[in-house]
Amino acid sequence: MDMAQNGTSVSIQDLSLSFGAISVLHTLNLDVAEGEFIVLLGPSGCGKSTLLNCIAGLLDISEGRIFIKGKNVTWEEPKDRGIGMVFQSYALYPQMTVERNLSFGLRVAGLPKEEIDKRIARAAEILQIEPLLQRKPSALSGGQRQRVAIGRALVRDVDVFLFDEPLSNLDAKLRAELRVEIKLLHRKLQNTMIYVTHDQIEAMTLADRIAVMKGGVIQQLDAPQTIYNRPVNRFVAGFLGSPA
Ligand code: ADP
Ligand code: MG
Repeated sequence: MDMAQNGTSVSIQDLSLSFGAISVLHTLNLDVAEGEFIVLLGPSGCGKSTLLNCIAGLLDISEGRIFIKGKNVTWEEPKDRGIGMVFQSYALYPQMTVERNLSFGLRVAGLPKEEIDKRIARAAEILQIEPLLQRKPSALSGGQRQRVAIGRALVRDVDVFLFDEPLSNLDAKLRAELRVEIKLLHRKLQNTMIYVTHDQIEAMTLADRIAVMKGGVIQQLDAPQTIYNRPVNRFVAGFLGSPA
């Protein structure tokens, strides 16, 4: 079949990826339902960012196929995939105001000014960054910068949000705050989110389902409680299981 199932937002089929002779992802399969919040959880170096970058189209895969909303996007440009990505480092344009940072991609895409203004106003309200629109990134706190980075994905009106450890540069208090905000954002937008972290608490609080990864393989894909109570192997148990 050359189609993903109905109701499936992102479908990854037999995906393998190597950097030169080093194989990083091994025949990986993952179906994410529409509106689902999936967390990719695993130790550093297990291939989380690589997997996310494959979905985003930032890496050429070695084998396999990727579908988004039923469409084979394996060879589509990142901009044509209907995804928005938020990185750990905010990746804002330092010379532009927040408003410019938010509007830049939309201008490039040729959207009319009224539509751009409407989308920015909505994102600014949802993320509570209205007072920051005329500032430069250097005048923002880490938490504010990350809100703007999320806003940049938000204004693009995409089906799928990809987050790569968006909170790991923040202190514990801000991390907890933004975790709640991201959860609320997901409730409000009800879009698909794929969220990479090595933080067990983030995974437990955010995910509908967690994919626990090790060595380029998904070890277990289940609801947080199921993983916690019934880990499939020692690795998952040690990484996330109940302390029993
Ligand atoms: P994670 O995000 O889970 O920490 P990564 O996906 O960044 O892991 O990396 C997975 C593995 O692939 C690591 O062993 C890393 O060293 C390797 N790797 C990542 N990017 C590259 C690259 N551009 N070239 C070569 N090896 C890479
Ligand atoms: Mg990473």
